[in-house]
Amino acid sequence: MRTLENLPFDNAFARLPEQFYTRLAPDPLPEPVLVAASPAAAALIDLDPAEFARPEFARVFAGNALLPGSEPLAAVYSGHQFGMWAGQLGDGRAHLLGEVPGAGAGWEIQLKGAGQTPYSRFADGRAVLRSSLREFLCSEAMAALGIPTTRALCVVGSPLPVRRETVETAAVCTRLAPSFLRFGSFEHWAVNKQPDALRVLADYVIDRFRPELRDAANPYDALLRDAGRRTGDLIARWQTVGFMHGVMNTDNMSILGLTLDYGPFGFMDGFDANHICNHSDDHGRYAYKAQPQIGHWNLFALGRALRSLVGSQDDVKAAIADSYVPAFENGYLNGLRAKLGLQDALPGDEDFIGETLSLLQRFHPDYTTFFRVLSRLPGAVTDASRATVDAPLRDHFIDRDACDAWLTLWRARLAAEGSRDDVRQAAMLAVNPKYVLRNWVAEEAIRAAQQGDDRVTAEVLACLSRPFDEQPEFERYAAPPPDWAQHLAVSCSS
Ligand code: AMP
Ligand code: MG
Repeated sequence: MRTLENLPFDNAFARLPEQFYTRLAPDPLPEPVLVAASPAAAALIDLDPAEFARPEFARVFAGNALLPGSEPLAAVYSGHQFGMWAGQLGDGRAHLLGEVPGAGAGWEIQLKGAGQTPYSRFADGRAVLRSSLREFLCSEAMAALGIPTTRALCVVGSPLPVRRETVETAAVCTRLAPSFLRFGSFEHWAVNKQPDALRVLADYVIDRFRPELRDAANPYDALLRDAGRRTGDLIARWQTVGFMHGVMNTDNMSILGLTLDYGPFGFMDGFDANHICNHSDDHGRYAYKAQPQIGHWNLFALGRALRSLVGSQDDVKAAIADSYVPAFENGYLNGLRAKLGLQDALPGDEDFIGETLSLLQRFHPDYTTFFRVLSRLPGAVTDASRATVDAPLRDHFIDRDACDAWLTLWRARLAAEGSRDDVRQAAMLAVNPKYVLRNWVAEEAIRAAQQGDDRVTAEVLACLSRPFDEQPEFERYAAPPPDWAQHLAVSCSS
């Protein structure tokens, strides 16, 4: 395993022409203290977790000391925000240190919150401890759920005051990803009428991350289709697990199909398809139920940017129709089948899934709990036993008859495929998590960390690293929001 000093950097992005970024060092953070670190993320770059304990670790990932071989830079991009062209954005508070070989193509190491860059516009280049811990915990939780995402190595805090709605303190979150390139990275060059730069960037992504696309008749068309397929699959996973990103602007959409830029995200507590997790999203553009259409819209923004390389507008449309649409639809349908314990695809499944969603929408049971509890119910009951046997699920419904009626449909559907309880229950428990990062749990970790106690964060990280395991010691983190957290609001402020 590697120590900090012998992380072998190989900075492919820094070898691109200088128009793609600005080289600059991070701004030192006063009195840096390590608040959280992920052993699983460290393993990706073969970094020895014993390194976490060194004072040097906090200094390096605060941006106060540079690792040998790193070449820090901030990248330029543009994007559409809330449906409007926002012009140039860029890494306003992120410094890419470089890339370390590891599993796959390698892992870029990026500091988020390490000071201003030429792309900061009027903002301070900092991130607060609250949002840094949310990003850290959710990145690692999503990875453990098997959902494509950027990763988080650690959070380093500091007493440096940072003004948001109130005065908070600064932190730096270190993120890992094969690449942080966004749809907006491509829109930038298309809108600025620099087709050569656009091609260089597309070639970089293909050669570095998708070499198999080189063999396609048009590798750029294949890249658009690849992004479409992966984004469709990603959003299907978000929907099935009840995740809401909150700010699906095109500058927050990864070209590699990763969940990127955790801000005012949320996991569904009581199911409500209309739920808007971002308090700043007045019109619900990024509501839960809107995410699939927004993904489609964003793909069109990417397609428009790549059009000169792909061919005609019709080619772009075809590429998206053939990739995003079926990837989302199949991913979502199969994802819900799996959550319901259905192994076969039978006619009528879409109707049954529709019935299921309308039951959830009418009674708003806790989404995660509903499927977890359902996983353990038997596929057959007698009339005499059903009230007792089904109690763990029925208790989540004011209208028990509605729950019973739905369970009858579910059991008929299980019988139609000759479902076996032992096989089906094991499969359901492996896809229906017991633990997701509930807002109230993140809030508890944050409040403790703000008081200098980082143990809750470590405990939540440990719990969410095994989301499908029962872990009775962490039972309380599976609970719906307690009274104090009923009206927690999360906004873009970070
Ligand atoms: P976000 O909504 O966090 O994805 O950020 C949108 C844009 O604003 C990106 O270009 C960010 O780099 C930039 N940005 C957000 N917060 C800050 C900040 N505190 N300082 C500098 N730039 C920021
Ligand atoms: Mg962003």
